[in-house]
Amino acid sequence: MNRTTRGNDALATPLVATPPHQIPEVVRYQMLRRRVIRLLRLLSVEPSDGVGGIIDAVASALDLSIIIYPTNLMADAMLGFTDYTDTLGYVIFVQSATTPEHQAHIVLHEVAHIMLETFEPLDDLPALGNAHRTADYSTPGERDAEFVARAIGTLLDLDSDARLPTQPDPRVERLAQTLQDRIGW
Ligand SMILES: [Zn+2]
Repeated sequence: MNRTTRGNDALATPLVATPPHQIPEVVRYQMLRRRVIRLLRLLSVEPSDGVGGIIDAVASALDLSIIIYPTNLMADAMLGFTDYTDTLGYVIFVQSATTPEHQAHIVLHEVAHIMLETFEPLDDLPALGNAHRTADYSTPGERDAEFVARAIGTLLDLDSDARLPTQPDPRVERLAQTLQDRIGW
């Protein structure tokens, strides 16, 4: 499978630019929140659109597909991660062994990474110990993604429809199998 480094590339202008870290944190997060709200307005996302609406809007803004793949990630504390391939676009793997509301939040966290372009391809990671785990808030990139996920979560009507838009795709099944063999979740 041919993976690119889209997330770290110069080609990508993030949908949401992260404010500089020199700014006091409270102000910085206010700016980040405003930028997210501005983007959602620009993309005409309504609160009732739910997670599916956000995914569709972000995917069409990037002209890429975003596929959600719930699966039982056996590895400890692994709740979600994202991979990118030229043929499939972004694939968000989400822990299926949790509530629909939690899965929706995990997906929003991954979508936040995609918006902020803080997505790290699995191939670039020295070991999966640091991979894109939703429960890890130890780095500024993780905290930003989590903040954006929560900001979007408060704007969306998540309770009314927490179901994730998924559809079976044999190519994604194969990618999942490859990753499972390599990462061993
Ligand atoms: Zn993350």
